[in-house]
Amino acid sequence: MSLMKFQMKFKDEQTCRDWLAEKRWGGHDKAVCPHCNHNVCYVHTGIDRYTCQSCAKQFSIRTNTIFEGSRLPLVKWYIAIYLFTSMKKGISSIQLGKYIEVTQKTAWFMLHRIREVMNSGNSPFDGITEVDEAYFGGKEGNKHTINKFKNEKTAVIGLVNRDTKQVKAVAIPNADKENLLPKIGCNVKIGATIVTDTYHAYKNLKNNFKHFTIKHSANEYVRLDSKVAFKIHTNTIEGFWSQVKRGIYGIYHWASKKHINRYLNEYAFRYNGKENDDFMNFINWFGNCEGKKVVYSNLIG
Ligand SMILES: [Zn+2]
Repeated sequence: MSLMKFQMKFKDEQTCRDWLAEKRWGGHDKAVCPHCNHNVCYVHTGIDRYTCQSCAKQFSIRTNTIFEGSRLPLVKWYIAIYLFTSMKKGISSIQLGKYIEVTQKTAWFMLHRIREVMNSGNSPFDGITEVDEAYFGGKEGNKHTINKFKNEKTAVIGLVNRDTKQVKAVAIPNADKENLLPKIGCNVKIGATIVTDTYHAYKNLKNNFKHFTIKHSANEYVRLDSKVAFKIHTNTIEGFWSQVKRGIYGIYHWASKKHINRYLNEYAFRYNGKENDDFMNFINWFGNCEGKKVVYSNLIG
């Protein structure tokens, strides 16, 4: 869908509210009270308000969503989400601010809220998963950095499933086995296949998984093993790291430790939705927008 058609579709506040009500509850008349979960609510006409028939409290379409507490029109939010989810490399707050006529500071806050919704879910991977660690932050992006920048960098772990082509990535305090193995344990099914490099922290994976390794230190990047039908490499997850690196350093120039998980969410969302059309990714984003809250003072504090 072109941006022009998108703007025609979501032309005013009422249209945006109708669409969100449909998405959340199946229509205004099926609104569920966020205070007591009751599902008989009076819909005030012409304004964004519902009154619960059970607890008598009022709420709006935004209550208990990422939009709660924002005074910006949904029309602007929707364009921001559409642009953000459809642009391959991301969009800076300066650029977004210009597009939707808000200050850079407002746009920056919006982008962090939008990222907050992009988490990749909890269902564990099965089949073949590549796992790798990397470092982000600081001045230049460099994986497996052991130089002087290391202390400024945040260790992250990434997992990409070759069967579903889905990725998950999250920051960890240190890239050691105490931090890496539990993350793998809760994101990959016991007994599934894992491919990593020969980094020593992964050694004990063989106790719970079918573990295959590739020896990068010996300049080995793809290996065939006569016992299995797939190629042993971690090139898929490395490809994801390059996308994150290009995005963070190319568009945002910097990602602090505090915000790194949101940036990882952003690039994982793009990666996981790369085969969808732009409007489908916009719809998918809304699937997760309830129950999330980002407070400005927490972002900057
Ligand atoms: Zn209620």
